[in-house]
Amino acid sequence: MTTAPDTALETAFKITRKTDGISAVERERLVADPGFGRAFTDHMAVITYTEGRGWHSPEILPRQPLMLDPAASVLHYAQEIFEGMKAYRAPDGGILLFRPEANARRFQKSAERMAMAQLPEDLFLEAVDQLVTIDQAWVPKPEVGTLYIRPFMIATEAALGVKPSAEFKFIVIACAAGEYFSSDAGAVSVWVEENSVRASRGGTGIAKCGGNYAASLTAQMEGKAHGCHQVLFLDAEERRWLEEMGGMNVMMVFEDGTLVTPPLDTGTILHGITRDSLLTLARDNGLTVKEERYAIDQLYADAAAGRLKEVFACGTAAVVTPIGTFKSGKGDCTIGDGRSTGPVTAKLRQTLCDIQFGRTNDPHDWVKRVV
Ligand SMILES: *Cc1c(COP(=O)(O)O)cnc(C)c1O
Repeated sequence: MTTAPDTALETAFKITRKTDGISAVERERLVADPGFGRAFTDHMAVITYTEGRGWHSPEILPRQPLMLDPAASVLHYAQEIFEGMKAYRAPDGGILLFRPEANARRFQKSAERMAMAQLPEDLFLEAVDQLVTIDQAWVPKPEVGTLYIRPFMIATEAALGVKPSAEFKFIVIACAAGEYFSSDAGAVSVWVEENSVRASRGGTGIAKCGGNYAASLTAQMEGKAHGCHQVLFLDAEERRWLEEMGGMNVMMVFEDGTLVTPPLDTGTILHGITRDSLLTLARDNGLTVKEERYAIDQLYADAAAGRLKEVFACGTAAVVTPIGTFKSGKGDCTIGDGRSTGPVTAKLRQTLCDIQFGRTNDPHDWVKRVV
């Protein structure tokens, strides 16, 4: 493992500004209608790790292609982890981050699982801060969207022997982002995947690593072939218990005011920061919160009996997305009228967004101002 503290950190960022960027007019056009994941900002943050030396050479530089040796471990053995977070434009024009220290901490956990060097939390936060500050003109107006921030780490040592890399690069890129699902789409449909699994006990399900996503793509294709937007994965052992979507956690709301979400103790579910925040807000709103296993057959039965009122997916990218239909080899199941956003889902989404965009007070001290 390469996690032992190395020599003293060299933490002053060297800043190289982009001089031949696109025009302000062109940028404003992109930021006004950014879509998702294509309107990239001008700069990137890079910090290098070398065994024996530790983290060094932090830089902000113009966004550009990477130079990698073709034997770099990330390309062969998938030593890669990432995070997803957003910067929000506040009513006064300032820029806010939402629980960024939770992303920094989870990034360390992911690194530990993947035998990668652990980046100190304050360096993670400093890199994000510096990038958002230099590219602040890319943060859309709140009615348009957010700046989506993608910190990630790759193993860069050129070595085909299977072992943890001795060299890493931590990089942060960002893009202006509109709604993940087009906002007038209403509730999404979800394919219940009964063949492949996302994670198994002892596997990498709690690490935010690219490999988990690669393994989920065939299920996503199958879901798409059945006309579904998203995929719900079940547990690996019994293919019975709800786990999560490919990149979002899942929550159920019952007629008696109970909110249920799968528990984290199986070690197979990503510890979503949106999940955690919504559980807190649900408790604040007087809902009974239960983190307990819930079977797919039960979901079909409870929906048919009218006990299950609302189901939604949650994560940073898509925030809170209502689910209207489940489809599987066993047939279809409709939640509510299959289209609308239920009242509890709407209230939780609104409360969360109001805090994230700085429109209301922040009782849990979640929001951090960058600019
Ligand atoms: C990132 C992610 C989530 C959501 O986590 P947030 O911190 O809420 O963005 C859920 N599931 C998986 C598999 C993820 O990778």
